[in-house]
Amino acid sequence: MVTLTTNTTATTYVDSVYNKLVETNGHEVEFLQAAKEIIYSLTPVFEKRPELMEAGILERIVEPERILKFRVTWMDDAGKVQVNRGYRIQFNSAIGPYKGGLRFHPSVNESIVKFLGFEQIFKNSLTGQPIGGGKGGSDFDPKGKSNNEIMRFCQAFMTELYRHIGQDIDVPAGDIGVGGREVGYLFGQYKRIRGGYEPGVLTGKGLSFGGSLTRTEATGYGCVYFVDEMLQEIKESFQNQTVVVSGSGNVAIYAIEKAQQLGAKVVAASDSSGYIHDPEGIDLALLKDIKEVRKARIIEYVKERPEATYTEGCTGIWTIPCDIALPCATQNEIDEASARLLVENGVKAVGEGANMPSTLEAIDVYLENNVLFAPAKAANAGGVAVSALEMAQDSSRQFWTFDEVDKKLHQIMINIYNESSAAAKRYGHEGNLLFGSNIAGFEKVADAMLAQGII
Ligand code: NDP
Repeated sequence: MVTLTTNTTATTYVDSVYNKLVETNGHEVEFLQAAKEIIYSLTPVFEKRPELMEAGILERIVEPERILKFRVTWMDDAGKVQVNRGYRIQFNSAIGPYKGGLRFHPSVNESIVKFLGFEQIFKNSLTGQPIGGGKGGSDFDPKGKSNNEIMRFCQAFMTELYRHIGQDIDVPAGDIGVGGREVGYLFGQYKRIRGGYEPGVLTGKGLSFGGSLTRTEATGYGCVYFVDEMLQEIKESFQNQTVVVSGSGNVAIYAIEKAQQLGAKVVAASDSSGYIHDPEGIDLALLKDIKEVRKARIIEYVKERPEATYTEGCTGIWTIPCDIALPCATQNEIDEASARLLVENGVKAVGEGANMPSTLEAIDVYLENNVLFAPAKAANAGGVAVSALEMAQDSSRQFWTFDEVDKKLHQIMINIYNESSAAAKRYGHEGNLLFGSNIAGFEKVADAMLAQGII
């Protein structure tokens, strides 16, 4: 993906930083994957701007400013003591307070949180909002837990985290396994401990206590807005396109909603057990009822819609022919083989709603085959962008309508597309939004780091 033929000082510099990262973080495969994708695409910037090399910007940006790791002890409904591990990575605060979600999933470890935190630096910069990069979470598995257990876990988690966050320090939000309910419990505990009302400390809150309209829809809608901009380059739109969306969580559901509103036929969705294929187009009201209201498995869908089929396992979803693929579930869900299948079946565009859903090899396949590619840090930045708008509303004590926030979100996604596209062109990689978004996100943070001295 990142083949650079010239043996310049910049190439040597980038190589040396990456090799050192491998030496010191060799076991953190997800973090190294994210770092490799970004670091090498920045070579043209260091070629043009050697002062960034001299200031050691790359060595500094790959090292989190702070890694917090803590024990979370709570009691389950049976009265048994449970212990989980909590994380918060405060990665970079050059352009604003650390900002990024919390993920509750058994797969969470330091590597996963670091990859997410690293990506978040560039994503947050791209939004044009004054927010730094951070991420956190726990290996707690919310599946099968009662409401009271979720509440007790959130309270125990916040009892440790509260001392490290604040509206001008670090502002967490949701991610996989952390939705409105969990943010509510986390906020309640923060308020109880602090003894004051500081709504700007968390985003994704309920509308009755400082939340923003459109935050729920923001990541999915934003992803579709971004892909729509990209499609306009080839004089196309979502109208009459066949779309496959993976996942059926927050991002997936609202990506489906916006794609349908723009005239697409969305034919598939999934959860971590399997996927549904509904050739006539997904009944979104039914899917929402199953996933958001009943909190049931996606297999329920075919019981009520016999024309659809259900298949066990997740990767098979990419065998379904489509014009546009929107991976909105989790990291590394499209590998090289799946990417090849998508290309063979004529995919025109891939828009990443999830974080790092495509492996580096899969990205190579898209780029080699001229598939339009919207990388995660640009395409899914709508969520954090509206989180920053939530912070602005909390500070001003004034709240905007759904349409006002939606319009701002749409404009932000257009801006991200334009800036990524312009940066790609400026550095000789016209049309490559992966390079463009990495570079555009990086330059703003690098300039701030340069201006703030050696810290
Ligand atoms: P949710 O927890 O709401 O949903 C995740 C969905 O993905 C669930 O349907 C889950 O199924 C499914 N899933 C998990 N693993 C797999 C798998 N291996 N194959 C297929 N489906 C799977 O999370 P979000 O929608 O919030 O997040 C999804 C992705 O988007 C993540 O990568 C997240 O980091 C990213 N993201 C989220 C943002 C947000 O605002 N929420 C912002 C930016 C990025 P099951 O129910 O079985 O677990």
